[in-house]
Amino acid sequence: MTASEKPGVSRRTFVRASTVGLALAVTAKPVPAAAAEASAAGVAGIPYVGAGSNTAVRPFALGEVRLNAGLLQEKRDRMKAFLQAFDERRFLMLFNDQAGRPNPPGLQLPGGWENGGLLSGHWAGHYLSALAQAYADQGQQVFKDKLDWMVDELAACQAAITARMDAPGGGNEPEEPVIGRVEGRFGKGLRLNGGSGAEHLRLPQEAVSQLTDFTIATWVNLAVAQTWSRIFDFGQNTTVNMFLTARSGAAGNPPRFAITIGGSGQEQQITGTSALPTGQWAHLAVTLSGTVGTLYVNGAAVATNTGMTLDPTSLGVPGNIWIGRSQYGDPLLDATIDEFHVFDRALSAGEVQSLTTSAAGSTGGGNIAWYRFEEEGGSTALDSSPNGRDAGIVPVTQGGGGLWVPTHPGYLGAIPEDAVIRLGPPRFAVYGSNLGTNVWAPWYTQHKIMRGLLDAYYLTGNEKAREVVIKMAEWAHLALTVGDKNHPQYQGPITRSDLNLMWDTYIAGEYGGANEVFPEIHALTGDAKHLDTARLFDNRESLFGACVENRDILVVTDPADLGRRRPARLHVNQHVPNFVGYLRIFEQSGDEDYFQAAKNFFGMVVPHRMFSHGGTGGNYPGSNNNIEMFQNRDNIANAIAQGGAETCSIYNVSKLARNLFFHTQDPAYIDYYERAVLNQIAGSRADVATTSNPQVTYFQPLTPGANRSYGNTGTCCGGTGLENHTKYQETVYFRAADGSALWVNLFVPSTMTWAEKNLVVTQETNFPREARTKLVIDGAGALDIKLRVPAWARNGFTVRINGTMAPVRAAEPGTYVTLRRTWRPGDVIDVSMPFSIRIERAIDRPDTQSVMWGPLLMPIVGNPGGGSYRELSLYRYLKRDGDYARAAITPAGTSAAGDPIFTTHGFTLRPWYVGDTQAHSAYFRRVEPQIVFGSIDSGVPNVRRNDGLPDYDVPVSGIPSPGTDGLTFLDVVWDNAPFATHGAFVATVARTAEQFVAAGRLTDEQKDAVVAAAARARSELAP
Ligand SMILES: [Zn+2]
Repeated sequence: MTASEKPGVSRRTFVRASTVGLALAVTAKPVPAAAAEASAAGVAGIPYVGAGSNTAVRPFALGEVRLNAGLLQEKRDRMKAFLQAFDERRFLMLFNDQAGRPNPPGLQLPGGWENGGLLSGHWAGHYLSALAQAYADQGQQVFKDKLDWMVDELAACQAAITARMDAPGGGNEPEEPVIGRVEGRFGKGLRLNGGSGAEHLRLPQEAVSQLTDFTIATWVNLAVAQTWSRIFDFGQNTTVNMFLTARSGAAGNPPRFAITIGGSGQEQQITGTSALPTGQWAHLAVTLSGTVGTLYVNGAAVATNTGMTLDPTSLGVPGNIWIGRSQYGDPLLDATIDEFHVFDRALSAGEVQSLTTSAAGSTGGGNIAWYRFEEEGGSTALDSSPNGRDAGIVPVTQGGGGLWVPTHPGYLGAIPEDAVIRLGPPRFAVYGSNLGTNVWAPWYTQHKIMRGLLDAYYLTGNEKAREVVIKMAEWAHLALTVGDKNHPQYQGPITRSDLNLMWDTYIAGEYGGANEVFPEIHALTGDAKHLDTARLFDNRESLFGACVENRDILVVTDPADLGRRRPARLHVNQHVPNFVGYLRIFEQSGDEDYFQAAKNFFGMVVPHRMFSHGGTGGNYPGSNNNIEMFQNRDNIANAIAQGGAETCSIYNVSKLARNLFFHTQDPAYIDYYERAVLNQIAGSRADVATTSNPQVTYFQPLTPGANRSYGNTGTCCGGTGLENHTKYQETVYFRAADGSALWVNLFVPSTMTWAEKNLVVTQETNFPREARTKLVIDGAGALDIKLRVPAWARNGFTVRINGTMAPVRAAEPGTYVTLRRTWRPGDVIDVSMPFSIRIERAIDRPDTQSVMWGPLLMPIVGNPGGGSYRELSLYRYLKRDGDYARAAITPAGTSAAGDPIFTTHGFTLRPWYVGDTQAHSAYFRRVEPQIVFGSIDSGVPNVRRNDGLPDYDVPVSGIPSPGTDGLTFLDVVWDNAPFATHGAFVATVARTAEQFVAAGRLTDEQKDAVVAAAARARSELAP
């Protein structure tokens, strides 16, 4: 039914329509600094001060746009089912622990990184945002009930923590525990649970994630003959883990390595032959090479398993990476350990043997991590690999202690206040897993909680959330200005130099978009202090200024030139959201530098580091295995060898694109946003009904034959994932601030209600499963409707209004067309924009290509094996119109879900957004050795042009071009398609051949042969 048939809805008339008319006389209002006017994107009566709140083009509130049946609604509803099923009380447990409030018995922590570690609290914040979005969407009370309960409880926690400042004897800092070292196998070692004060170790995330083949080796000296105690245990829980025990409970108590994603019943095991003795040193090593796992004792292989199908990447993103502790609660390891190595390859038998004679043997030491325990003492186990992955030593629990007392009022968190403020002076804590001394993105977590509370306020009108978040902002201001005033080495307020050092510190200084919330709080309260707080997050030592100047320093060779702590390659998700905050500062201050920085930074990522699914970030071959970092500028083909493209990153890059559009109305930002949403983001949610975890991706590898894994309870991507799928309607429509225009940005089945104008627009479509849409207008009056013409719409873009072709001038791809008209109820706008198959080339290596169908990335299903690319030759199938879908990559119907399917050379292609675990390849290699026209072979090699591209296999810039790295002859010719006539085609071939002769790539004789072959191909090429 249409809106006008709904009860209580009469025929609509735009507000003051009679006075507006075709010649729109409305002048734009001055942009208010704060949101004094009615809500633009929130609940009626609640000021909205977020993205685009004071720009010429503004968002609608999430509740003003409803998704109708279609791809995005399907993805959203699966996520809403998870949000609804999850017990929100679990989120409060860690907050209650910090507040000294009791928890109900029998509850479990949320898990993942929301497990009592240093990132705890981040997932609760995302959950708040997702609940607010889920409620705004259709007004379902269940989401508001959960949200309101959480906000009430968080308010009580905040009050309880602050109240402790008035308690007698306040000001006690948590003290670093005393943990000694003992004699080891080589130099010193670490005694666990034997009087040294050490209980177990927590390793940082990168010590295990992203490993496939690996070696883990260590010395152990057992004090007792306990069974099942773990040398190490890396995993999420008792279902998903891998461990090594020196003495299993099996007959004879042999050592055992096991890995499982299905609990103990599905373990893939390697079990030794005899028990390790107590009271003497033994060397244990486990290696995995492909499907072959080997267990070594004292340098000799004692057992192998040749059927291993799991590797550490199968564990997803484990939160519990422990030495000496079991996921099952088995007895803590009572032993001394030494020389704990992690390698990203299987050592040879000789190399393992060498580790028994010296600390590193012939290996150079673990290249992923190497804990030697040579420190004087303390709760940090230094990493002797080049990676700085220090481990935290968890002390044996001591009784008593009592609750910590905050330094400043208003703190709220699931970790102690000290775990945030130790990032600043005098300690300048670094990233690690030591609960007492390290930090893990503490301001990132503060941002998530504050963002969640602000969303609860905007989207559901929760006033208490507003009060709590303002108190958090007051605390943040003190924490970042006065600082750690109770510390014995306190030397006064935090300086600009201190802040620069903090934000340049890898992961420790990751603050997400913390600087986006303070300008909003400034706008809500009118208190200029909060805008000052936002500026405290400026990364001024290197990145901010470089971005203002548009100098791309995301990857550099010598980081020391640019700052005291910045790494050579910047971490993608540490920095992208900073720029969303800079835009918010620009919006509230008018300071142009912040806008320039954001705009220029976006330009460094898109297109220079963008994969075809919209994602970014990855390694170059041979670099250390951290695929969360930016790849080199213009490195696409080079950067996909080991996966990459963290899903959090695209959440933030697309958020930045959307916000930049409000300021610029540059259609390119929405082209990017659409690519992100319809490919990596839609593809990040599994198409299953499971509610036991969020079922979203972390990385989305583009490696040939890679598949996706889903889950992510309690991880960063599990958090942004909750949000991604509950805000799909946020960018479908925008409106002019002066009410003169409606922007239709995305083609999504949806209904938009613009209450001020008494206008309802329903978009009837099955996009992107079909290439047309229909807008049905319910309302009356003069209005410009601006329709986006996507950059990919190269096969025409036609508009009919009530069946009559609309005279849309300049319907060029990558623009908006304006339909200026006095609309009447029941008006229908039909939009047709036929999809075409397009080939997208990697910037650095043009023969590495993706197939696109309209906006959709179409990977080739299956795994070629060994990381090799599918190879395709396609030019011989093209006709003069250059349409690949005619014969080269052809339609093959639709899937059961209605998704488009194509086939080429016997391979199947389908949309990237399909959320399952099938292997697929986003990129293939184009192999076109000969200059051919249809079946006519010119006999001339299809030579490449020198396009000056750097040698793509080399990691750093300044690398000379190999000289034959560019487009091929046929690439250059066919880039001019379609050709109206055969003569036009031959002329293009001749012109291109001249260019190749001039460049020394073809001889005159070859040119003549090519042109003659083209001339003969008239019937071959006829469409
Ligand atoms: Zn993430």
